[in-house]
Amino acid sequence: MHFEIDKNAFKGPFTCCGQKTRRAIKKVSIKGLQFTYDAWRCSKCGKEYLDTKQAGIMEKFWGMQMLLEGKAPTMERSLNYDGKAYFVRFPKDLTGSWNKGKKATITMLTPEKYFVEIT
Ligand SMILES: [Zn+2]
Repeated sequence: MHFEIDKNAFKGPFTCCGQKTRRAIKKVSIKGLQFTYDAWRCSKCGKEYLDTKQAGIMEKFWGMQMLLEGKAPTMERSLNYDGKAYFVRFPKDLTGSWNKGKKATITMLTPEKYFVEIT
């Protein structure tokens, strides 16, 4: 998959080959799971463009793809206990862009597997 991602372009349609691109619904399958995404496609040259929202969805999708293919980086951290709850510390070199207003959303996959999203 190859896309042009324009950081300044928040919304499509984009202009390519002198005409406006059209929204195209695309399907891709990873490890037997099918995903649908949309992109802006030029009907002349076939080039695809992503706007900010679509790029955010693709970013999640690529993360999911790495996870499913076993290519996502993992790290082992000790589980700490403060007498009431368990917590995990994130190493400082990963949290440089974090600030105190951020929230963590924990999605339970199984009782031993969780997906943590920092937003
Ligand atoms: Zn084009």
